[in-house]
Amino acid sequence: NRRILLRARPEGRVGPEHFETVDEAPPSPRPGEALLRNRFVSLDPYMRGRMSAAKSYSAPVEIGAVMEGQSVAQVVEDPTGRFGAGDWVLGGAGWQRFSAVPAAGLRKLDPGAAPVTTALGVLGMPGTTAWVGVTEIASPRPGETFVVSAASGAVGGVAGQIAGRMGARVVGIAGGPEKCAFVREELGFPECVDHRAPDFADRLAAACPEGIDSYFENVGGAVQRAVFPLLNDFARVAFCGMVAEYNDAEPAPGPNLMALVRKRLKLQGFIVRDHPRAFADWPRIGGAWLREGALKYREDRVQGLENAPEAFAGLLAGRNFGKLIVEVT
Ligand code: NDP
Repeated sequence: NRRILLRARPEGRVGPEHFETVDEAPPSPRPGEALLRNRFVSLDPYMRGRMSAAKSYSAPVEIGAVMEGQSVAQVVEDPTGRFGAGDWVLGGAGWQRFSAVPAAGLRKLDPGAAPVTTALGVLGMPGTTAWVGVTEIASPRPGETFVVSAASGAVGGVAGQIAGRMGARVVGIAGGPEKCAFVREELGFPECVDHRAPDFADRLAAACPEGIDSYFENVGGAVQRAVFPLLNDFARVAFCGMVAEYNDAEPAPGPNLMALVRKRLKLQGFIVRDHPRAFADWPRIGGAWLREGALKYREDRVQGLENAPEAFAGLLAGRNFGKLIVEVT
C-alpha cells in the first residue's frame, strides 16, 4: 500500500522534504470498516494548516501519520454489507492507495449522475464552500459588483458562477492571462483581472467603476490590499481563506485576518446614526437603569469654552477621565 506520510513540519514553504513515501501491505478492515482502493485523492489548501502544529479549527496531522484528505474510491470489500465490491464512494481516506475506513462514513457516488471526481471539487467540499460563502455571507444582489479571488480555482470558480446567477456583475481575480481567459470565456465572468500585472490595483479599480459590493476572499495578501479600498458602504466580505499567506513563517504585521476564518469571527463596522430606533430605545432603557442606580458613569468637566481646544487635545491623548464636557461659563 503506497502511502504519503508527514515527515516534518514546514517552517515556510512546503517541499518534498516534508513528506515520505512508504510501501506497506494493505490494511485489513476492522469491524465496521470497508476496504477501499482510492482512485482520486483531493489536494486542498487547508492541508497546509494540518501540516502545522499551530492551533487551528482541526488537529494537525501527526508526524509519521498519513497525510489527511478526502478521496473518491472504489470498494474492495465491505464486510458490513452496505456497499458492493466496485461501488464508487466518497470518504476521508488520506494520501494512500488503500484505506480501511468506517463504512458508515462513506457516501455512495453514482457515476451516471456526474463524473465521480466532481465529488471532490465542483459538487464537493469546495463547491459547497462557495455556496455557503456566497448565499449566506457575501449575499450579492442583482446589479451589484461581486469580486472573487482565486477565481479559476475550485471554490472561486463556483462562487462567481453562483453570484452571477443571483444577478450580480462578477469580477474575478486570477493569476496570469491564461487563467483570466478561462475565467472570462469558460466560466462566463464579464471581467477577470490578473493579480500578477504590475498595475493590478489600477486594473481592478477600472474593472469595478462602481466599487465592490461583495467580495469572496480566497487569497489575502496583496490581492486583499487592492480590494479593500474599493469596498462600498455596507459591502459584505465572505472570508473563506487566505492561501497567499499559508506559507508565511511569521504572520504579516497587523491583525491577521485569517483568524476570521479559523475562529469564524464576525466583524462588522457600524455608524450609530444609521440606527435611529436606538436613539429612542436607549434613553428609555438606560434612563430606567440610571434611576435604579444600576448604570454608573463619570463626567470630566472643563470650565470655560476657551479651555475647549486644550481639553479636546487631551481627549485624544488620554488626559480626560470620563465623559468630557465643557461647562460654558
Ligand atoms: P484553488 O483551486 O483556488 O487553488 C489555490 C489558488 O490560490 C491558486 O491556484 C492561486 O490562484 C491562488 N493563490 C495561491 N497562492 C497565491 C498567492 N500568493 N497570491 C495570490 N493567489 C494565490 O484552491 P481552493 O479553491 O481549494 O481554495 C481557495 C480558498 O478557499 C483557499 O484560501 C482555501 O483555504 C479556502 N477554503 C476555505 C474553506 C472554508 O471552509 N473556509 C473550504 C475550502 C477552501 P491564482 O493564480 O488565480 O491566484
